[in-house]
Amino acid sequence: MTTVTSTRTGSPATSTVPVVRCREASRTYGHGYAAVVAVHGATCSLYPGDRVALVGPSGSGKSTLLHLLAGLERPTAGTVEWPGLDSTTGIAVVFQGPSLIPTLDVVENVVVPLHLAGIGDDEARRRATDALEAVGLLDLAGRLPEELSGGQAQRVAVARALATRPRLLLADEPTGQLDSDSATHVVSALLHAADRVGAALLVSTHDTRVAERLGTRWVMDDGRLCPFYDDAARSTRTGPCR
Ligand code: ADP
Repeated sequence: MTTVTSTRTGSPATSTVPVVRCREASRTYGHGYAAVVAVHGATCSLYPGDRVALVGPSGSGKSTLLHLLAGLERPTAGTVEWPGLDSTTGIAVVFQGPSLIPTLDVVENVVVPLHLAGIGDDEARRRATDALEAVGLLDLAGRLPEELSGGQAQRVAVARALATRPRLLLADEPTGQLDSDSATHVVSALLHAADRVGAALLVSTHDTRVAERLGTRWVMDDGRLCPFYDDAARSTRTGPCR
C-alpha cells in the first residue's frame, strides 16, 4: 500500500478533515483478458489549502484518479469519500479541452453552473463578475468563446469553477494545449482561485514547469501512486510503489 500525503497550507482549524480521502481505491475498465487496471490501490487525501501536481506518463492513470477524486467515476474496489464536503457540489473540475458553451458569452458561461445550483440571477452575476475579475478577464465578459485565445478560454473555465466556491478544485491537464506563457497565466489563475476560497487544488500535468508551481508532486506509474518529491519540504517521501 502507498499512502500519499501532501503539503498543507490551510489553517490548522480547517485542515484536520480531508476534503477527499481514497483508501485502496482501484478502477478497472473491462473484464477478463481485456481488463485494464487504470488505478491500483490508491490511498491518498487532500486537505484544504493543499496544492498538488499529479504527474506521470501518458496512460499511467492520472485522469482516472482525478475522476475518482471528483466523483465522476466510482472505484471498482476500495473507497473514495469526501468527509469535508456536504455533497459533491463542493467540487469543481477544469478539463483540458474546450469546455465553454459556444453560443453563450463569457459571463453567461460562468453563470450557468450557478443557475443550475439554484442561485438567483443577481447573485449569480455578482459572483461571475467577481470570479472573472479574479482571473483578470472581466473586460472580456461580453465575448463569445470563439473570440478568445485558448489560454483565455481556460481562464474562463477557471473563473466558472471559482464562482461555484469549491472546496476541492481539480484540473485535468489544463495547460496541455497551451503555449508556455498562456500556461503560466492559467496556473496562476488556478492558484489564485484556490487561495481565494481556501480550496484543495490538484492539477494533473505533463509539464514540469507547471508541477514546480504546485509545491507537492504525486507521481503515478502504471496505475500506482508512487513516492514523490515534495518541493515544499525539499525531500523525497519514500514508500513502496508496488
Ligand atoms: P493518463 O491520464 O495518465 O493518460 P488515464 O487515466 O487516461 O491515464 O488511463 C489509464 C489507463 O486506463 C490507460 O491504459 C487507458 O487506456 C485506460 N482507460 C482510461 N479510461 C478508459 C475507459 N473509459 N475505458 C477503457 N480503458 C480506459
